[in-house]
Amino acid sequence: PRPHPTIRVRPLTCTETRRGDQQVVHSLGDGAVHVSATSPSGCRGWGGLRHPLSRRCPHGQVNAARHDATFGFSAVFDAGASQEAVFEGSGMRQLVELAIDGFSCTVFAFGQTGSGKTYTLMGPLAQSETQPVSPALLGLMQRSFTCLLEQSRSRGSDLALSASYLEIYNEQVRDLLSPGPPCALPLRWSKTRGFYVENQLSVEFESLEAIVSLLLQGSQRRRTSAHALNRHSSRSHALLTIHIRSRTNQPPTWVLQAGACPSKQGTLCFVDLAGSERVKETGSSGELSVEANSINRSLLALGHCISLLAKPRGKRTHIPYRDSKLTRLLARSLGDSGITLMVACISPSSQCLSETLSTLHYASRARRVTTRP
Ligand code: ADP
Ligand code: MG
Repeated sequence: PRPHPTIRVRPLTCTETRRGDQQVVHSLGDGAVHVSATSPSGCRGWGGLRHPLSRRCPHGQVNAARHDATFGFSAVFDAGASQEAVFEGSGMRQLVELAIDGFSCTVFAFGQTGSGKTYTLMGPLAQSETQPVSPALLGLMQRSFTCLLEQSRSRGSDLALSASYLEIYNEQVRDLLSPGPPCALPLRWSKTRGFYVENQLSVEFESLEAIVSLLLQGSQRRRTSAHALNRHSSRSHALLTIHIRSRTNQPPTWVLQAGACPSKQGTLCFVDLAGSERVKETGSSGELSVEANSINRSLLALGHCISLLAKPRGKRTHIPYRDSKLTRLLARSLGDSGITLMVACISPSSQCLSETLSTLHYASRARRVTTRP
């Protein structure tokens, strides 16, 4: 089955609860999400629907007078949903299996800063080296790695696994696994390979420990390379790609006699997108405004490609993958042979209302994407 846009609503944080924020997002079951602002103070930003990511969208039914809106999705996980429930219910397990079968599979988490993207993909940060995160809280990534390694054993096929980890910061592609300070790598295109990153490091791994350690090392480099810790991590897009080459252990004898060894290659890519919040037109200057502009541009380009892909194939015009590094890198996964799972992360707080609506509109538009192998 093909995965569909999935919504994840995180619980209110302690700060939000203390501040007295209202919970304005409710899951109604059956994939329906209801957003309602009940008091005037809860309506902050309700009119702020103009956002780079949300053109006017016909999917959500907005009732301006009553300040509420309902959206329909194939899966909605609310504050009580466990990490395991998200893994099983989002179609992530099937995505891993399709990647093993040779497809280009991508899961991307998007939403405003603080909405739970990293938590959903990787789980919470470890308190310290000696206090690892409880296994129940591990995110989609670790669960997928486990599933991948289990499958590789149980299928009796010989899977060759390798990983690459990139970030896109200010429209520059950087390798998070190469030694030394992150340097910008050129993004090229060739007829046979499509878009690819030149000199990108790819590291082979065979165990869960090895890939988790690559993930943590890369993520750390992403975080420490900026002045403001948390800020930076949400100011770049991070792409971890697992390359899966599978060879059958026992190919039929006639194949061996022909001297061929059949193999297929799939990919599983995890994308932690930069925060989608609208950047104030005023006030930001210098480095921050450069950052903000490149994030806006790339998210806008992604939204544009997604909305064009959502049209029936016959009515589609040219898809402008070249508009940003992000869309170039995601071209194969978004294109006709790729399979994409989107996880839209939202905060239930009244303070985040405007961004929440933007995220839901963005996800609604993506719902129509019909990439199918
Ligand atoms: P983002 O990556 O979107 O900026 P984070 O994943 O860092 O956001 O989440 C922001 C905060 O909310 C973190 O402290 C995180 O632990 C917490 N959080 C996010 N999602 C959940 C959840 N489903 N359950 C509990 N805490 C969560
Ligand atoms: Mg994050």
